[in-house]
Amino acid sequence: MNYKRAIITIATLGFTYFIVTRVGLNAQQWSYIRRLNPKAKQKFKDFIKAVEDGLGYSVIITSGYRTFEKQQSLYDSGKTTARGGRSYHNYGMAIDINAVKLGTWLRIGSPKIAWEESGIPQLAKNMGLRWGGDFSNFYDPVHFDLGNDYNLNDLEQTAYQMYGQNPSDIKGNKV
Ligand SMILES: [Zn+2]
Repeated sequence: MNYKRAIITIATLGFTYFIVTRVGLNAQQWSYIRRLNPKAKQKFKDFIKAVEDGLGYSVIITSGYRTFEKQQSLYDSGKTTARGGRSYHNYGMAIDINAVKLGTWLRIGSPKIAWEESGIPQLAKNMGLRWGGDFSNFYDPVHFDLGNDYNLNDLEQTAYQMYGQNPSDIKGNKV
């Protein structure tokens, strides 16, 4: 294969890969957005749009609403420090994201300075969101939630009042 043809092939494959992943991501992103708490949905939509259109990153949501049961099983296996009901994810009021731009992939292991230089945390804070990169007990830079607007104890209490004590009955994203 000559040099020119190789370049064209690689470019075509790259372009196809980009299109396919974007289409897939959009469908997956939508399913995460759809399950968020109605009280949180618009704010996260606006946030993602601002990150994509304003800062030029592609946003990949990696987690959104988590049931109490799912959260508890993560806790039991040591993957999180929050038991069932003790995370904003349990109320559909948190998302975890990665952000991608040519040459940059912001993810859980990326240093705080890299996230800050992207402008994403500042944008989130300007919109009233809380950033997990600021958490003192657990550095969680992929995490954004509505902790400034809603108190976790209140949410938990409301959930148990609405649905009872059985975790499998609780629809946290409707609280
Ligand atoms: Zn999170």
